[in-house]
Amino acid sequence: MSGGEFDLIAWIRQHSTPAGIVRVGIGDDCAVLAPEGPGELLVTTDMLLDGRHFRLAEHDPADIARKALLVNLSDLAAMAGIPQAAVVAVALPIDAPGGPQRLGRALHAALAQAASEYSVVLAGGDTNAWRGPLVLSVTLIGQATPPGPVLRAGARPGDVLFVTGSLGGSLLGRHLRPSPRVAEGVALRRELGVQLHAMIDISDGLAVDLGHILAESGGLGATLEAEAIPTHRDAVALGAEDGRSPLEHALHDGEDFELCLAVEAAAADRLADGLFADRSLALHRIGTVEAEPGLRLRHGDGRVEVIEPLGFDHFRPTPGVSP
Ligand code: ADP
Ligand code: MG
Repeated sequence: MSGGEFDLIAWIRQHSTPAGIVRVGIGDDCAVLAPEGPGELLVTTDMLLDGRHFRLAEHDPADIARKALLVNLSDLAAMAGIPQAAVVAVALPIDAPGGPQRLGRALHAALAQAASEYSVVLAGGDTNAWRGPLVLSVTLIGQATPPGPVLRAGARPGDVLFVTGSLGGSLLGRHLRPSPRVAEGVALRRELGVQLHAMIDISDGLAVDLGHILAESGGLGATLEAEAIPTHRDAVALGAEDGRSPLEHALHDGEDFELCLAVEAAAADRLADGLFADRSLALHRIGTVEAEPGLRLRHGDGRVEVIEPLGFDHFRPTPGVSP
């Protein structure tokens, strides 16, 4: 690597300061973390591959690096975790335009910026260069909000389902710049306590991800109200291009990174006015959990349709770049 791997690590080290939970950061064989308070620790990791999740030739390295952290923050948000520290592993292409040193610095700068926005301290990582495509993997550590992490398992028949924002059409650009609902996840746990039964972030599509909650909660089902599902204007715009309805996009498109939650019915009305003291986050009540397995959609005229999950599957045979 021009300038060398150690020069890049030294540069990253100069631009990082251990803080918060991180007692010893970049420069030793391991980072040392000293958690404060009673909350359990949460760990999540996500890997982004050139040619699969992005194209280095097309996308800004800053967007790629930000996204690598933001998708992890979305997973943490889904369990109401409070972000603390991250480690990053990067495989830099030797033939990157401008050289791997320059690419490595651009990735780090963007990652560090996103980390500071979400109070994440960069605790360490691993740096390699090779004759292969860019690979970026971030591991995020957070602390649970009392009374504990919100699992996928925990939904019960009669629970009310909500989403934190409008869905569909992220392919038009939002997928590259997620806004993980970190503060929202924590605020929901604080507001609802144990009445917040289950939560997930919508990365593969509402139908698929709600399906995970229902499956993990013992094989339950749900009915969604078609008219209550908030469709993003991008879902309308994309639908105008491909002929699919905005509702289909809202149900099946991936990478919205909103939260989907199941709440005890007695607490659902408390969310009707929104979240936070200034009610700055609208929560959308979209349906009900039921004992009968399967996912159903009730239309305005009363007609009920069974929904098959169609979300993005990384193991599908067709090669290409996911949205
Ligand atoms: P080792 O060979 O002992 O694993 P490395 O040379 O890989 O050590 O890393 C030296 C230090 O730099 C470690 O503290 C590691 O966590 C940190 N580090 C390496 N790459 C990165 C990176 N891309 N971002 C942040 N820290 C990094
Ligand atoms: Mg190493």
